[in-house]
Amino acid sequence: MTRTLTAVRQVRRPSGPPVADDFAFQVKPLPSPADGEALVENLYLSVDPYMRELMDWGGWELGAGLEGRSLGRVVASREPSLPDGAIVFHRHGWATHSLVTAAQSRVIQPANGVPLSAYLGVLGGTGLTAYVGLVRIARLQSGEDVFVSAAAGAVGTAVGQIARLLGAGRIVGSAGSATKVAYLTDKLGFDAAFDYRTGNLVESLAKVAPAGIDVYFDNVGGEHLTAAIESLRDFGRVAWCGAVGQYNNLADPPAAPYNLFDVVGKSLRIEGFLVREHLDAREEFEEFLVPHIQSRRVRVEETVYDGFESIVEAFRGMLRGENLGKTLVKL
Ligand code: NAP
Repeated sequence: MTRTLTAVRQVRRPSGPPVADDFAFQVKPLPSPADGEALVENLYLSVDPYMRELMDWGGWELGAGLEGRSLGRVVASREPSLPDGAIVFHRHGWATHSLVTAAQSRVIQPANGVPLSAYLGVLGGTGLTAYVGLVRIARLQSGEDVFVSAAAGAVGTAVGQIARLLGAGRIVGSAGSATKVAYLTDKLGFDAAFDYRTGNLVESLAKVAPAGIDVYFDNVGGEHLTAAIESLRDFGRVAWCGAVGQYNNLADPPAAPYNLFDVVGKSLRIEGFLVREHLDAREEFEEFLVPHIQSRRVRVEETVYDGFESIVEAFRGMLRGENLGKTLVKL
C-alpha cells in the first residue's frame, strides 16, 4: 500500500469560472485510524455544480479539506462496523484517502448487475434529486408533459429517464450542444430537445412543446425559467432544483422573469427543494430504480475522468458542459 495521501485544497476564491490555480495538490503521510475511525482508499469521487457555490461562499475554507461525495474501500479500521474491505460512501472527497467514522459514512452493498459508480450518480444523490423533484415536488401525474433543463447532465438524464418510468407524457429537454440534443432524442428517449445556446429560448421551447408543459424541472434558472413560465399550462408546477447558469457569477444574478405574475394568472406552483431534506425517500427510490438499472431500461450515464490528478479538470469541464451524465473521477 502507498505510504502517502494526496489531497486538493482550494487556495483562492475565483472570479468567474474556476481555474487550475485556484487549487493546489498536497502530498502528506498516510494517517492511521484512531479508535472509531477507518482509513478509506477512495475509488470514485464526485464533482458537482454546488461546489462552485462553496468556492465563493466559504462552504469550502481556503487551505482546508474539501467536502465532496465519494466511494471508497476500507483499508485499515479501528471501527467494527467499517471492516477492512467494506465499500463505503462518505463526503470527505477531493483526496486519494479519507479518515471516516461510522456516523460519517454508509456501507454500500451494490445490487447485482449495478455498477458501483451508479451509487454516486443515477442511484445516488443525483438520481434521488430527480426522483424527489418529480414525485414529491412536482407531483408528476401519468400523462403529464415534462421539460427539464441541463437535460444531458447528471440530474437531467435521471429526470428524463425517471419521468418516463413514472408515465410522463411528452418529455423535452434543453442542452448546450447539437451533440447533446441528438443524444437526448436518439439514446435517452426524450421526445424532443433543443440547444439553448442557439435561438430564442421562449421560441425554442414552444417549438418542441407546442401544446405546452405541465412540469418544469429547473436545473438552470434565469431565462430558462422565463421560457418555462411561458409554456406552462394552468396548474403547472416548477420543481426548482438548481441554477447552474449563475453559479460562476453569483454576485450578479439574472433579472427575475418578466412573466412572473403568470404564476398567479395560471395558478402555477414554483417550489425549490434540497435533496438532503428528503433522504428518507432513499430506500423507496432504490427499490423503484434498481430493477430498471438491472434490466438496462435505465442507462447509467457517466463521464469518467481517469486518475486523481484529473479532478480539477473534471470539475472545470463539468461546469463548461463537457459531460454527458454524471461526472466522476476514477482513482
Ligand atoms: P450536470 O448537469 O451534470 O453538469 C452541469 C451542466 O450544467 C453542464 O453539463 C452544462 O451542460 C450545464 N451548464 C453549465 N453552464 C450553464 C449555463 N450557463 N446555462 C445552462 N446550462 C449550463 O450537473 P448536475 O449535478 O446534474 O446538477 C444539475 C443542477 O442540479 C445544478 O443546478 C445543481 O446545482 C442542481 N442540483 C440540485 C440538488 C438539490 O438538492 N436541489 C442536488 C443535485 C444537483 P450544457 O452543455 O447543457 O450547458
